[in-house]
Parts: sequence; C-alpha cells; structure tokens
Amino acid sequence: MARQREGDRERVLVLYTGGTIGMRAGPRGYEPVPGFLGQQLAKLPQFHDPTQPPLTTPRGRFDRRVHFEILEHEPLLDSSSMNVENWVRIGLDIERHYEDFDGFVVLHGTDTMAYTASALSFMLESLGKPVVLTGSQIPLSELRNDAIDNVLDALVFAGLFAIPEVTVYFHHQLLRGNRSRKVDAQSFDAYKSPNFPPLATVGVDIEVAWHRVLPRPRAPLSVKPFRRRNIAALRLFPGMTGELLARFLGEGMEGLVLETYGTGNGPDRPDLLQALRAASDSGVVIVNVSQCARATVLPSYAAGRALADAGVVSGRDMTAEAALTKLSWLASQDLPPDRVRRGMTTNLRGELTPPSRWNELDPPAGSPT
Ligand code: ASP
Repeated sequence: MARQREGDRERVLVLYTGGTIGMRAGPRGYEPVPGFLGQQLAKLPQFHDPTQPPLTTPRGRFDRRVHFEILEHEPLLDSSSMNVENWVRIGLDIERHYEDFDGFVVLHGTDTMAYTASALSFMLESLGKPVVLTGSQIPLSELRNDAIDNVLDALVFAGLFAIPEVTVYFHHQLLRGNRSRKVDAQSFDAYKSPNFPPLATVGVDIEVAWHRVLPRPRAPLSVKPFRRRNIAALRLFPGMTGELLARFLGEGMEGLVLETYGTGNGPDRPDLLQALRAASDSGVVIVNVSQCARATVLPSYAAGRALADAGVVSGRDMTAEAALTKLSWLASQDLPPDRVRRGMTTNLRGELTPPSRWNELDPPAGSPT
C-alpha cells in the first residue's frame, strides 16, 4: 500500500472491523459477511466513479476525489464482542500504514464504538492525521439506510479535512471520539457528545469549528498499546453495601470507574467509604464519573467530598467510556498508582475540561490534581 499523492485524489485507508454497517440478514439475524461490504460499496456511484480506479469517489464540491482501500479484519465482529486486543489491532494497523495514507476511517459496530474511539485517542499519541470512526443503524445493503451517508461523509472528513484527532462521525455530526456516547439504539441520530460541542456539522455546507480542534502535534506519531489489566466499572445504586463494594474491589483489582449520582455524589455512609478508602490505600485507583448524561464531577456537596476524602479522584466531565479506557491505558503503561491518579485528572487528549478558577469551587483538599 504505497502512498503517492495522485493528482486530485486523497488516499484513505478504511479499516473494516464489523458492525451492522456491513451485515447481511441471515437465518439467525444480522451477521457480518466477509467481503460483502466492499462488493456493495463498489456498486454505488458515490464510492466508485467508473472513469477512475476502483473505490474512487467522484469529484465533489471540493473538486477533489477520495480514493480508498479496504483492510478487512478477520473475523468481522459485532462490536459487543470487542475487547482490548481489538483496540490494539486497530491502533497497530494505523501505525503500520500511517505514512501511506492521508487519513483513516474505521468502520465499526455502534454498540461499543465510543469505547474504541476513546481507546484509540489515548493509544495514538501525537496523532497528526484524521482517524474517523463510523457505523450505521441499518446495513448499507438495505434500501433505506444511514450507512451510505455516514461512510461517504467519514471518507470526506478523513481525506479532505486536516483534523488531527480520533473522531466519531454520525448523522451529520463529527464528534471528538473520547467525548462521544451511543445515546439511541433506534434513531439515526445515535451518537452524541453531551459535555463537548461537535467538531463539525454537515448540512448544505460542512462547518468545522476549527477553534475546538486539537492542534497538530510537532512530535511524530507514537503508539502506546494497551495490555489487559484488571480495570472495571461499577454503577452506584441506592442500597449498595460496603460489603458488596469491598468484594468487588478485592483481589487483583487495579482500577475502578465508579459511576455516581449527579455532580459526583455517593452515599455518605461509613461502610462504603471505608471500603473505598481501604482499596485506594492498597493501590486501587478509583475514579468518580457521573451517571448523568451531562455532568461534571464537582465538590459542591458534602456527599461528593466524602468520596474524595476516601481517595476517589474526580473524572470531571469525562464519559464513563473515556474514563474506563483512559484508566486501563494508563495502567498499561506500568505507572505507579499516584501517577495514574494524576493522569486521570489531567486533560491528555481533550477528553476532560480542566477546572477554571472563575466558575467552580476549588478542588477538595488533598485531591491529587
Ligand atoms: N450490534 C451491532 C454492533 O455494535 C450494532 C451496530 O453496529 O449498530 O456491532
């Protein structure tokens, strides 16, 4: 796959990992079928100008074409079966072909796309090219579908817009990947970025909010993979006991994303707080994110401060998906727990909004920021 800038064409590598987008209805429901998506794309005029080499788009409004190649993963997966090894495989594929292409599109199931986008954002340090994840709610092979628009716009962003970030493109919006969440399993408008505005919106015109886009890094790409670690997420619920929490935090646990209420509150009860304190004293990194769709973890309430006093660090406005992947990525770098805690409260890839002295209370005393 050698890179040449060929006249009016930009080159994009499409990593096809699975998901509804390329599925076909079989006897047991929708299933991914090897080779099927490429065959379908090659039949559509939007993706294949017959006067050009295969898989080259017609010239659009920008007077440029996107030529793409497809690298299909084997096996193709429903994204609900994806794990750390799949994230690493995608990241290493991007590293291997980085110099040969102008940008990358990752075709992915929508169920766990926010996790993969977040994971890639941490793994691909000093990323200088666009990496756009997309999928669809209806397969591309069906008459009515959201796949054609999503793939076409993702190719346009990856090929023609120099946005050096891992993003998710869905239903007319380009979102920062580590801010995105799947919010709807029925609508085409399935992905949102509740705590950070879109990087671009697509209508008659494509409008990019360049002031929000991360600056192009000076350093070359450096890929720092994940390793399998004992990191978990737990959603608080009324009535959770200290005993249950202590059992969950037992033997071998290295980090926990604790999904709390509102602005980061939890029950101010000694049994729970003791379980958290004992675990964090023994080196488990516990991070507080909110169960609310839109929220920032703030020390506004005594209940939230009690968690901080028990050693729980604030995940601020990170999504649970970003917090989980960030925690497991930092743990994969073999850092001591205090460095991991510091990393969790630091903005590394635009995944959290740091505190501003003017609009918030001071962080709680003893917070390891
Ligand atoms: N279950 C599918 C997946 O995540 C759903 C989708 O692609 O929309 O792979």
